[in-house]
Amino acid sequence: MTYRAPVSDYQFILDQIVDFSAVLDSAAFDEVDADTVTAILEEAGKLASDVIAPLDRGGDLAPAKLVDGVVKTSPGFAEALGQVAEGGWVGMLAQPENGGMGLPLTVATAVNEMMSGACLSLSLQPLMTQGQIEALEHHASDGIKELYIPKLISGEWTGTMNLTEPGAGSDVGALRTRAERNGDGTYAISGQKIFITWGDNDFSDNVCHLVLARLPDGVPGTKGISLFMVPKFLPDAEGNPGQRNSLKVVSLEHKLGIHGSPTCVMEYDGATGWLVGEEHEGMKCMFTMMNNARLGVGVQGVGVAEAATQKALAYAEDRVQGKSPLGRDGAGIIDHADVRRMLAHMRADTFTARAIALACGVALDLGRTDPEQQARGAFLIPIAKAFSTDIGHEVAQLGVQVHGGMGYIEETGAAQYARDARITSIYEGTNGIQAMDLVGRKLMDGGEAGFAILDEIETFAEAARATLPNRAKAVWNAAETLREGMEAMLALSMNDRFAGAVPFLRAFARVLGGYYHLKAAISEGGEGPRSRLAAFYINRMLPEHTALLAQARLGAGDIYALSPEDLSA
Ligand SMILES: Cc1cc2nc3c(=O)[nH]c(=O)nc-3n(C[C@H](O)[C@H](O)[C@H](O)COP(=O)(O)OP(=O)(O)OC[C@H]3O[C@@H](n4cnc5c(N)ncnc54)[C@H](O)[C@@H]3O)c2cc1C
Repeated sequence: MTYRAPVSDYQFILDQIVDFSAVLDSAAFDEVDADTVTAILEEAGKLASDVIAPLDRGGDLAPAKLVDGVVKTSPGFAEALGQVAEGGWVGMLAQPENGGMGLPLTVATAVNEMMSGACLSLSLQPLMTQGQIEALEHHASDGIKELYIPKLISGEWTGTMNLTEPGAGSDVGALRTRAERNGDGTYAISGQKIFITWGDNDFSDNVCHLVLARLPDGVPGTKGISLFMVPKFLPDAEGNPGQRNSLKVVSLEHKLGIHGSPTCVMEYDGATGWLVGEEHEGMKCMFTMMNNARLGVGVQGVGVAEAATQKALAYAEDRVQGKSPLGRDGAGIIDHADVRRMLAHMRADTFTARAIALACGVALDLGRTDPEQQARGAFLIPIAKAFSTDIGHEVAQLGVQVHGGMGYIEETGAAQYARDARITSIYEGTNGIQAMDLVGRKLMDGGEAGFAILDEIETFAEAARATLPNRAKAVWNAAETLREGMEAMLALSMNDRFAGAVPFLRAFARVLGGYYHLKAAISEGGEGPRSRLAAFYINRMLPEHTALLAQARLGAGDIYALSPEDLSA
């Protein structure tokens, strides 16, 4: 079976779990109403299910290749990406005055999840272009905006983001790519960038690279970095692709997964570039788009989790091994308690991660005008990125397990999900770095944004006691334990916090999951499929937060007590 976009689940979360009606009521989205959103989700769902998903396996089997310096893309990708652009999806977040749809980030997040679930490799291409459009809207000169944005939205041109170098990964400030002033307003860019997603293709008329580089007077570290637009073909006087720029794809990486996404080593040899933003303020420009980019990667995890769950469920219903413990004649392995447990775990965490991502989208949408919501969105971003992508590959691994030996055999496609999802915890800031952001920068407010979320959970859980006393009590207690855990984290030195950052982030996500599952159960009066899933989550998965918080507050002492020699003994 191929992936079907879970449109009704987005609709349920928007209607019942997150405060999406506040987004629709806000002045920033005057043009968008509930019916339009429903129509958009359905339309995107059809594109994802019917056009994109059927290409996923082919992209894995026939990866992108470098032929005579040009990337030849996987079969069918060019046509499908043409349909993505024609549907306006590349420009769904862009401002209407620039030719975009101007949709709320919440809606775009749901659409990005569907595209990622359908085919992660393919979905990366419009996602990179989306990020570039956002950076240009905020920071580019009017001339660059007018020339590039319409062509990026229409899909005629595509975009990339070039940060990483061999010596500069998590530490972007260590980059060595140089920029020299040409004296005519343009710059000459020289250096090597690695791991550049969709660094080239065989279908767009131009590939536009946003490149981070350092000017001769740029100070060392992140403060001395500038951002440049460096197109593959230099636009002529009419704005059409003209002379070839001096940049090339040196090679493609051979990867564990996402084979349909060309990951390029790029060489810039005095390539002509145009400044985006101010000189030496390149990192500031990158930060503007970091929230959306992280959320976009977060839902890649959710998308793959959804696809893996659907596949495992279908297999478990068909595959018969032994008698059903429930006495159902001819029933599949889904009747075995351990298999049912794995499937419930997959479904419960996919829902948790999706709800966190959409709640984050709502906060960022409302945050355009409301500073408290902005702080909430900023707090939720590392959780939405790291938890969702961890869940992506954990759920995909469970999917392999549900398939038994067939899960390890490539034909089923279960293994592909596990391979594809693995990268999402690494790029766009590794999940370790996300967790450090949560306990570092995001607790700079003394925990205000985080505590406000806990207040909301406790208020809801108190009211829910009338309907579901035990579940509501468990969620209230979990929020209180997390409050104590957060207070303990705040009292630690920064490096001690960093040592516990990953378990702390996961504990926060677990408690958020308890809240969203409880809300889902209450929305159906405490009885029904969502209530049964909530019971499973609250009884079996939520308790994990206690052990995680115990670890989080331990500090770094016992970790550093283990010397490198101890570890190699
Ligand atoms: C398939 C793929 C696609 C990519 N696409 C792009 C792209 O389009 N554009 C782009 O610019 N880049 C891209 N990247 C690069 C990606 O963002 C980096 O790989 C990532 O940021 C990590 O950098 P690194 O690989 O150098 O790992 P390192 O920074 O060397 O990290 C190694 C380990 O050390 C940890 N670590 C590092 N520093 C710290 C610290 N200060 N504290 C605690 N732990 C630390 C990390 O969490 C990680 O576990 C891509 C990578 C891949 C594999």
